[in-house]
Amino acid sequence: MDDNCIFCNIIKNKVPCTRVYEDDSFMAFVDINPAAPVHILVVPKRHVPMLSDPAAEDPELLGNLLLAVRKVVKQENLKDFRLIINNGAGAGQTVFHLHAHILGGIRMPEKLL
Ligand code: AMP
Ligand code: ZN
Repeated sequence: MDDNCIFCNIIKNKVPCTRVYEDDSFMAFVDINPAAPVHILVVPKRHVPMLSDPAAEDPELLGNLLLAVRKVVKQENLKDFRLIINNGAGAGQTVFHLHAHILGGIRMPEKLL
């Protein structure tokens, strides 16, 4: 838990969100600035800054992140979707708490983010 991290504060219910999924280790909520009709963020409850961080070198964390994505898309009846993880400011990462973007609800253009 990082007190200055917006996603940690969402996880701790200190900041409101539109939650779509939660289990012991992950939470999914609607992106506040959606880039597609469906735009859901899947975040581990553990504060890991980004995929390339040494703290992310955890097969259970990374495997379960994709399994959480599978549960969310099934729950939301999303057959086709795009999954994006931005890593580092140069790649567009603005929140330094690992998260996967699920984008769907439109036919995807070649580039969206
Ligand atoms: P990234 O640019 O990959 O770090 O993605 C961060 C995402 O978090 C952006 O798409 C933001 O719109 C989203 N975001 C930031 N603050 C919030 C919030 N309080 N609730 C929901 N989504 C947020
Ligand atoms: Zn955090």
